[in-house]
Amino acid sequence: MVGYNLKNSEPPISMEDGDSRGYGSLRTLQDCVHCGFCLPSCPTYRVLGTESDSPRGRIDLMKAYANGEIGISNSLMEHISLCLVCRNCETACPSGVRFGWAMDATRARLEEEIHRSVTDRISRRIFFSVFENLAVLRTVMRLLRLSNFLPFMRLSRLLGFSQFSQFIPVTQNVLKNSSGFINPGGRLYKADGNRPATRKVGFLVGCIMSTLLADIDHATLRVLNKNACDVVLCKGQTCCGAMHLHEGEREKAKTLARKNIDAFSKYPDIEAIIVNSSGCGAQMKEYGVLLEDDLKYHKKAEEFSSKVKDLSEFLCGSQLNTSFTSLPDMKVTYQDPCHLVHGQGIRKEPREILRQIPGIHLQEMEDSEQCCGAAGIYSVLNPGMSEQILSSRINSINKTGAKVVVASNPPCIIQYSTRFQNTGDSRRVMHLAELLDQAYSS
Ligand code: SF4
Ligand code: SF4
Repeated sequence: MVGYNLKNSEPPISMEDGDSRGYGSLRTLQDCVHCGFCLPSCPTYRVLGTESDSPRGRIDLMKAYANGEIGISNSLMEHISLCLVCRNCETACPSGVRFGWAMDATRARLEEEIHRSVTDRISRRIFFSVFENLAVLRTVMRLLRLSNFLPFMRLSRLLGFSQFSQFIPVTQNVLKNSSGFINPGGRLYKADGNRPATRKVGFLVGCIMSTLLADIDHATLRVLNKNACDVVLCKGQTCCGAMHLHEGEREKAKTLARKNIDAFSKYPDIEAIIVNSSGCGAQMKEYGVLLEDDLKYHKKAEEFSSKVKDLSEFLCGSQLNTSFTSLPDMKVTYQDPCHLVHGQGIRKEPREILRQIPGIHLQEMEDSEQCCGAAGIYSVLNPGMSEQILSSRINSINKTGAKVVVASNPPCIIQYSTRFQNTGDSRRVMHLAELLDQAYSS
């Protein structure tokens, strides 16, 4: 997945208009005033302390590359690929630089220009295609669940996925304990009988959430039903495309966005589109930016995005059903998922909900808004840096004495679960929906 030859033949990009190739997101780079306020917030700058691995340094590199002042080099690729796209620098920035948009556009441009080996191209195509069709993804996950993992590891190494093979045993372990996958075939989940439906909502089942972490999707559906919602699993929906966008596969991300817009627009009676994965939510709230040059879809994308709500945002915005039974006393700490806190500005809602569950004691950790190092498939592509960032988070968690880490994004859940499992640590990671579900049913 990483082998490429370097070539720089494309003309520079005008940052005034982003040019006709859909790079308008680069315009935001002009707002950087070089103040440096963002540096302490950046996980890679905290570890390495080098300007080129800071937001400001990367902005300089992105601008120089877009203006044609520098070409592609191994050094440029390294500094760009080491960024987690966690967007913590956006929260810190007083000038409103939308760093994530610019990084996504830069990676897309780089992807157009570098020449990958045939094996690398094939392995990328296979990998990303699996996530573009949820039925195919479910089949792959079923095979993974049923079979011995050794042939899968050999096959993945053969196809150039050696970085991914280490996750196969962990994935199988999670799959063995999870309940049935979710197939978004238009099924309606009716509101709980004791609280007749007052609202009808759509639900993004997600690629990883509907397979590997399907228990969380099931819990989310029960929680919404307990909160007087009829929930429809809109037919035709697919992966949100966030992973594709962050890895430079911009056109594929646009195709997935259009598919989701078409799928959900067939249900005009839903008042909101609920998302329980913060990376997907941030992506879907910005479909308008992704499709800004698409005359047919731009307006539809903005309408779609205005309906997208994170689960915590939706529950806090309506009257949360607080008919909880008390859970056994449990000290929990909360990890702010990057794309919830920095991508969507949501920090108080999950905490408000946690504080209302009897038996839960929320103990805040230091730097809860720092990335855990998972960042989509970053932990696979940059395992060394990911581990160092994760270790700093684990130190913060250790100081809280919490037995449960609450995190509402699949990569964070997998990142912490893998570390706990590999080190024989009995602490657990739970999604907010799982805690709520337990509180409603215990
Ligand atoms: S997105 Fe995250 S890792 Fe990348 S420069 Fe900004 S703070 Fe650093
Ligand atoms: S805080 Fe904003 S304006 Fe200041 S250096 Fe960072 S990105 Fe540029």
